[in-house]
Amino acid sequence: MRIRPFEYYTAINQSDVLDKLAKYGPDTKVVAGGTDLVLAMKRKTILPRVVVSLHKVRELDFVREEDSRVCIGALTRHADLAMNTTLNDNFPILCEAVSLIGSWQIRNVATIGGNLCNASPAADSAPPLLALDARVVIASSEGEDEIPLSSFFTGPGATVLKSNQLLKEIVVERPKTRSAGCYLKLMRKKAGDLSLVGVAFQAETDQAGEKLARVAIGLGGVAPTPVRSPETEAMLTGLSYDEAIKEIPEAARAAVRATSPIADIRASADYRRTIVEIYVRRAAEKILGTLFNGEDIQK
Ligand SMILES: Cc1cc2nc3c(=O)[nH]c(=O)nc-3n(C[C@H](O)[C@H](O)[C@H](O)COP(=O)(O)OP(=O)(O)OC[C@H]3O[C@@H](n4cnc5c(N)ncnc54)[C@H](O)[C@@H]3O)c2cc1C
Repeated sequence: MRIRPFEYYTAINQSDVLDKLAKYGPDTKVVAGGTDLVLAMKRKTILPRVVVSLHKVRELDFVREEDSRVCIGALTRHADLAMNTTLNDNFPILCEAVSLIGSWQIRNVATIGGNLCNASPAADSAPPLLALDARVVIASSEGEDEIPLSSFFTGPGATVLKSNQLLKEIVVERPKTRSAGCYLKLMRKKAGDLSLVGVAFQAETDQAGEKLARVAIGLGGVAPTPVRSPETEAMLTGLSYDEAIKEIPEAARAAVRATSPIADIRASADYRRTIVEIYVRRAAEKILGTLFNGEDIQK
């Protein structure tokens, strides 16, 4: 498959990227790791006239602690995120999810910004970030804006980003109390495959460590965009361990109502719904065990 000719620029810093996006207009694409974009250009589903490489824009490659929050640069690669100590200490759910993306060759070049901007409903970084209430910082030559990640995706392969805008960073608030989370991913193969279903389950206790103060669930691969499951979250929030354990089967069934899965060559819609229920139940049991009984969630 041959790629149609295009103009290629290597930006030297963020303001250079933004200038080029403003100058060359809607037919321009930025390329980070290229693991999605190059395939799309080969398949001719994306045909940019101009491609701006972010390769040298190292100022967007960082994990930074800022008071109560942690900021992740859009150009940070999955392999670096998976091993980052700050992220492993605060948001192990995100490290677990990105460590399941593709193969190590893919994780060594592919970035978190590319994963979100490509906006696949099955993007593995999206469910944990949704469950963490992440926000995204969008930059253009006119300034910056910070919005919730939940408002970022607009459909399969589509986001709110305009052609002159760049995803700059992802921001996540540190949990205030004891927290735990896990990400369960169903693949056709044992590794290196897109998820059929991805379930991220994140929970926090109250100050006394007796009740669930916050429960958040992110679901991937089962709707046009990654989604939360507000009904299940509300059913479990405020409960003690004993109450929550009893409620889990009904709460897991409720999670299915947040989905609208497609049937494709990889799985039927019914199969995806069944997996959502099973994975939400498993993840909830695992995280309740961790939060209230000190059971280790790391495999
Ligand atoms: C073999 C293989 C296996 C894969 N397995 C998985 C998997 O298991 N799970 C999964 O989620 N994904 C998987 N992917 C998809 C892909 O690797 C990820 O989505 C990856 O994170 C994309 O990042 P990238 O840096 O390569 O993005 P690129 O391909 O460079 O860019 C993707 C899109 O995002 C835009 N973009 C990139 N960065 C920015 C930015 N900062 N601001 C604005 N727009 C931006 C680009 O213009 C492009 O439209 C796989 C891909 C391959 C080829």
